[in-house]
Amino acid sequence: MGNPKEIAATLIRGDGIGPEIMEAVLRVLEAVGAPFRWEEQTAGMAASKTDGDPLPAPVLEGIRKTKLALKGPLTTPVGGGFRSVNVRLREAFKLFANVRPARTYLPGGRYEDIDIVLIRENTQGFYVGFEHVIPIDDDPRAVAVASGIITRSGCRRIAEFAFSYALSHGRKKITIVHKANILKMLTGLFLETAQEVGKKYAGRVEVEERIVDNCAMQLVLNPHQFDMILTTNMFGDILSDEIAGLVGGLGLAPGGNIGADAAIFEAVHGSAPDIAGQGIANPSALLLASAMMLDYVGESEGAQLLRGALYRVVHEDRIWTKDLGGATSTRDFASALINRL
Ligand code: ATP
Repeated sequence: MGNPKEIAATLIRGDGIGPEIMEAVLRVLEAVGAPFRWEEQTAGMAASKTDGDPLPAPVLEGIRKTKLALKGPLTTPVGGGFRSVNVRLREAFKLFANVRPARTYLPGGRYEDIDIVLIRENTQGFYVGFEHVIPIDDDPRAVAVASGIITRSGCRRIAEFAFSYALSHGRKKITIVHKANILKMLTGLFLETAQEVGKKYAGRVEVEERIVDNCAMQLVLNPHQFDMILTTNMFGDILSDEIAGLVGGLGLAPGGNIGADAAIFEAVHGSAPDIAGQGIANPSALLLASAMMLDYVGESEGAQLLRGALYRVVHEDRIWTKDLGGATSTRDFASALINRL
């Protein structure tokens, strides 16, 4: 009989530095007593060599069963007509919410004590890819047209997600970010629906709204005024990288893709082929993704322990991998975390 508290979860080590950083994360998760029972699957380059597909059917079936995955960075092979693995996962599991927290770990940056969570709608807006060109005379691409699609139900779904996330994570304020002064219909519907949902949470979560360009500037001028940001697909894409920049870049940026049928947690950075196999990669982003995963399954205590250890190692002990300006190996970095737990 297995441990009744065990939670089945899919594990994908990924390409490039994926296996090295995943190894480090698994050691730390073990030390924290994380309840996951891993079911490992192979995707990415390795899978495309053996199966002819970077996202073979067993990976999808595995995630369909566990509804939960921790994923290392995956490379979609260039050429061969493969569609992005991440986009396919998003479609297969209707991963409508992208959660991007940004928190200060590295000392000496432009700002201290940043703690912002951005919730990005992940499936609608201009990124649906409804585009076409119109030829005129001898110019085949004389006119380009793109349509953004936003549905009221899609807006409601992401807003409900954001507000319930605020309550369950002790967040106090949500800033709805839009461009309803220009894209009156498209992002107007997003704003209106998010505000409607927000009314149900009156007294529990404060709501404000910002136009996206002003929000981008305010984030640089005074990021401490923000708690959570709720926004559309394209604005979220841009602002989530901006908030990662406020805390020192993508090296410490985790992400969660959450939907009706599954939740997949990952580091935001790619497979870093330039340093793969050298044992110097920074496992922090994937580690923070695993902390989000612990929160997601209700193991907040483990998640807090893990984030606390990372804060002490990076902020107080100043133990850093090469990308952060230090010389500690991936393995030693993980050992330092385990010592701090
Ligand atoms: P991909 O196509 O997989 O996104 P990429 O090279 O375009 O790959 P990243 O993999 O994110 O993008 O790498 C960008 C730069 O950041 C590289 O120089 C890489 O070495 C570095 N980098 C990314 N992740 C890490 C990490 N975890 N630790 C150390 N350096 C990293």
